[in-house]
Amino acid sequence: MVLSLDLRRYRNIVVLTGAGISVASGVRPFRGPNGIWNEWDIERCATRTALEQSPQLVWQTFGPLRKQLQTTQPNAAHRALARFEQSLNKHQRFTLITQNIDGLHQIAGTRNLVEFHGSLRQSRCSDDTCEQSSFVDQRAHTETLPTCPTCGKPLRPDIVLFEESIPAWAEAHAKRSLRECDFFLAVGTSGTVFPAAAFARTAQMLGARTMLVNLEPHSEADSAFEEQQIGRAEELLPTLLGVA
Ligand SMILES: [Zn+2]
Repeated sequence: MVLSLDLRRYRNIVVLTGAGISVASGVRPFRGPNGIWNEWDIERCATRTALEQSPQLVWQTFGPLRKQLQTTQPNAAHRALARFEQSLNKHQRFTLITQNIDGLHQIAGTRNLVEFHGSLRQSRCSDDTCEQSSFVDQRAHTETLPTCPTCGKPLRPDIVLFEESIPAWAEAHAKRSLRECDFFLAVGTSGTVFPAAAFARTAQMLGARTMLVNLEPHSEADSAFEEQQIGRAEELLPTLLGVA
């Protein structure tokens, strides 16, 4: 049986989510045995070079995924995190960092959100110096190459491609929240790959309580996670966070 955690004494709660939290919403993971990357030629369709040489190919790759997302809804885990954030008192800070590009935390209503790898629901200009800011875009753009309403250059999905770095603001925001974190929770991520492992380690070194909620237990003896709850996030989180 899962018991509710008493999190009222924590001042800076940081949650990191990975692909596992969206499985119950029908979002296929990119990595792992059933991952999308097993079927795609990453070099050809999901890199910075591909975007520069053939932006249409990038849209033909990510456009159909964007189309699927139009009918994808947040599940009980996304909603529990949003309700939890709303339930905190004015002395508590909450930051949700997600590795997912499905935009489901935003739809669920999470407010202090860092989409570490961007959002597939948004488009932006392929020219980083253009003044056009990222915007919500429902269109899949698989047929014709969309152009920037400001400068006319190709648009791109607002996600971090291979060969690209995490946006500086996202990295800074994540690091700042980790420095002050006293409770760190990772959900739906193996806990051994970047950035989950590094984030947990940083939080632990700075004295935070660290917990993993995942379908698979972490296997490393020196894991930075002091506690783990094994199971489905959508079943565990509402009770753990006391918002069932
Ligand atoms: Zn532009």
